Amino acid sequence: MSATHPTPRISVAVLGGGIIGLYSALELLDRGYQVSLIEPAAPGGRQAASYGNGTWINEGAIIPISLPGLWKSIPGFLRDPTGPFVIQASHIPRILPWLIRFVAAGRSWQRVERDIPARLALLKGAVSHYQARAANAGMAELIGTQGVMYVYRNRAEYELDLKAWDLRKKYGIACSMHEGTELRRYAPDLSPDYKIGMRILPAISLRDPGAFCAGLARLFQRHGGRLVAATAKGFDLKDNRLRGVHTDQGTVTCDRAVIAAGIGSAGLARAAGDRVPLIAERGYHIEILDCPIRLVTSLMPADGKMAVASTRAGLRLAGQVELASCSSAPDWRRARIQLTHACRMFPQIKEKIENGPHDMWMGNRPSTPDCLPVIGTSSGSPDIFHAFGHGHTGMVMAPNTARLVAGLLSNAALAIDPQPYSPRRFRFVA
Ligand SMILES: Cc1cc2nc3c(=O)[nH]c(=O)nc-3n(C[C@H](O)[C@H](O)[C@H](O)COP(=O)(O)OP(=O)(O)OC[C@H]3O[C@@H](n4cnc5c(N)ncnc54)[C@H](O)[C@@H]3O)c2cc1C
Repeated sequence: MSATHPTPRISVAVLGGGIIGLYSALELLDRGYQVSLIEPAAPGGRQAASYGNGTWINEGAIIPISLPGLWKSIPGFLRDPTGPFVIQASHIPRILPWLIRFVAAGRSWQRVERDIPARLALLKGAVSHYQARAANAGMAELIGTQGVMYVYRNRAEYELDLKAWDLRKKYGIACSMHEGTELRRYAPDLSPDYKIGMRILPAISLRDPGAFCAGLARLFQRHGGRLVAATAKGFDLKDNRLRGVHTDQGTVTCDRAVIAAGIGSAGLARAAGDRVPLIAERGYHIEILDCPIRLVTSLMPADGKMAVASTRAGLRLAGQVELASCSSAPDWRRARIQLTHACRMFPQIKEKIENGPHDMWMGNRPSTPDCLPVIGTSSGSPDIFHAFGHGHTGMVMAPNTARLVAGLLSNAALAIDPQPYSPRRFRFVA
């Protein structure tokens, strides 16, 4: 732990023990604060998006989900229950304002490009941050394969993504095209039906994101952090200065608080004076346990839009976007759809893919309509800070989010401009 930040023993409560809360809590400990992490379940357990995700720490994730032309596909999404993106019809009235902002954020390439520097700022250096934390926590074995590769069956499929690749190159992301034997070198078990691979190098995958989070929680406790098993309910404020966080187990006294509760953050943000459009983009994983295929690099098939990664348990397929109420039951067909794509990728183990054994999981991506997180001081109190809404890229953005939120909290010079992530940006049209 560095002792280079001379800070008095101000106490901070971090609300939520997913990857964002854990990285933030550790960063605050590093800076000399007294930190309590409030989390009702095991940090990084199955309840958290940080548990079951695609495992990618991809510094090339500068392209948001809402892109030009998406709106034309929405009627098709409503009709096709097996596509990579579905909307539960009964949920539409509730999320309509979010959907309108979401489509607007991707209305033109010019609009998409406007936010790329803000995404890039949170992505840069993530791989080395992860490697350093893993070494520091004694869990280097959880760092998996190097690089991630998008694979295409033909040139026409690749050309649909051309604009995204041009943008990655323009913003300095190291990517390379591989065909023929070069492609086989990185994906020896992939079906020869896949002809083109686009590899991004500043990227790694984690062999077990849940275990990684649990390891961070142990590190946090070893260095004096306090884990509080409770659900945060609101704030004890006097003249807008924070005195504590109310929880279902009583009040935790503190001078500052960081809201990092993933999909549980919207209500807490409201209690801190900010109405933020945050919805669950539900996603699924299905893991083929004890899979004989060990990838050299993680893969994303263009037709399946899912991360395919070797994990400690086997081969994980993670993806799907389901806009549905958080309280509705998981639709496990959505996890299983991904097996069809896996069979296309690895026909030699079709039987194993189809018959398993499998582990299935559903989780909530905490998503804002412009695909940028909410990081900043709250409107209700100078002592409460937001750090949530990372959607599809919370794992990779966690280290820089933690640095930014800790910098704001300690009034330090900031390496990243916080303006694009302001909780107040939603007061205006996207
Ligand atoms: C299928 C899928 C694939 C993905 N793939 C990737 C990927 O490859 N790379 C990547 O970067 N990102 C990926 N993501 C996104 C990433 O997983 C999330 O953005 C990230 O995990 C969000 O972290 P978080 O800490 O904000 O939330 P979470 O991990 O959900 O943690 C929030 C925690 O807050 C707790 N909590 C909730 N309410 C309260 C409360 N009131 N008080 C106290 N605690 C509370 C919860 O119990 C939970 O533990 C994927 C997501 C999904 C679903």
